[in-house]
Amino acid sequence: PLVLGIETSCDETGIGIVRGRKLLANVISSSMDEHARYGGVVPEVAARAHVEAITPAIRQAVAEAGIRLSDLDAVAVTCGPGLAGALMVGVAAAKALAISLDKPLFAVNHLVGHVGADVLGEEGPLEYPTIALLVSGGHTSLLLVRDLVSDVELLGETIDDAAGEAFDKVARVLGMPYPGGPHIDRLAATGSPTAIRFPRGLSQPKDMAAHRYDFSFSGLKTSVARWVEIRRDAGEEIPLGDVAASFREAVADVLLTKAIAACSDFNVPRLLLGGGVVANARIRELAGQKCADAGVTLRVPPLALCTDNGAMIAALAAELIMAGAQPSGMDFGADSTLPVTTIQIL
Ligand code: ATP
Ligand code: MG
Ligand code: FE
Repeated sequence: PLVLGIETSCDETGIGIVRGRKLLANVISSSMDEHARYGGVVPEVAARAHVEAITPAIRQAVAEAGIRLSDLDAVAVTCGPGLAGALMVGVAAAKALAISLDKPLFAVNHLVGHVGADVLGEEGPLEYPTIALLVSGGHTSLLLVRDLVSDVELLGETIDDAAGEAFDKVARVLGMPYPGGPHIDRLAATGSPTAIRFPRGLSQPKDMAAHRYDFSFSGLKTSVARWVEIRRDAGEEIPLGDVAASFREAVADVLLTKAIAACSDFNVPRLLLGGGVVANARIRELAGQKCADAGVTLRVPPLALCTDNGAMIAALAAELIMAGAQPSGMDFGADSTLPVTTIQIL
């Protein structure tokens, strides 16, 4: 099926067009720069940017894909989770498009969309079951995916900050601009990952009983900030490379240790990564090592499909259609806290 997907859950206005598992267009307009001076995404600013970007992005995607809107078999949209006002812009646009074209509409889950992105990669259809680790500025979630279109279970998630958020906050402490993830990543290449032993959240035996698959990054962020502050106050020079490398190591270590534990506990020999933080060089490297050691097959979608985009939403809807799912009604709304088990709002 030929599907146009609309994604507006955070700061990216994403319009993607797929034909089945083939990517035809993936247009992304980000309001990231407008949030930079606030050090994080401002919901009202994001929603307004979506309003301005969405129509040009749809036009561009249609042109890039070389199709006409009337060729579409369906329209798909992220209905949650995400920022309420931002989601509403996408939902309104999707309904307008579907009604005016008289096409079926699929309202789908953003997080499951991140998993769905992977079918557009070179490796083809997903194999089941698979563990999925999604790490972005807003999410850190570990999922057990028995079937992309019908059975996704949340094993664990962050109980405070998302991993990307921790990167952004630590970057700020070190005096680097938002979004800080890429800056920390580059800086870390100049330091030693074993120079400083920063805490691995929820990894102590006492935490593992109740939080085996959950994450916590706010203690790590505070620990880095204190470490730096004490030395700054004492007038010492801060070994920025070592701080960045040791922090990055703590994040990568805890993410992949828990993901591999899930693979082992559920006897699942497959791990899939998604979300913008997957750009991180050490996370990719450690994922490769740990998966090889554990006999787990690793899948990582192309980076342009890891960050928020509309193609993954179109891809998930295409999978739903190919599996025989019914379209959504027209009376659904944006749900900022949509649980991952709700793959589609009907
Ligand atoms: P959502 O949480 O809704 O998926 P988001 O916009 O917060 O959306 P993404 O766009 O997927 O998330 O990713 C952005 C995050 O990824 C930022 O926090 C950024 O700092 C982080 N990031 C990007 N590149 C790297 C990197 N090389 N290393 C670490 N973090 C990175
Ligand atoms: Mg983003
Ligand atoms: Fe996302």
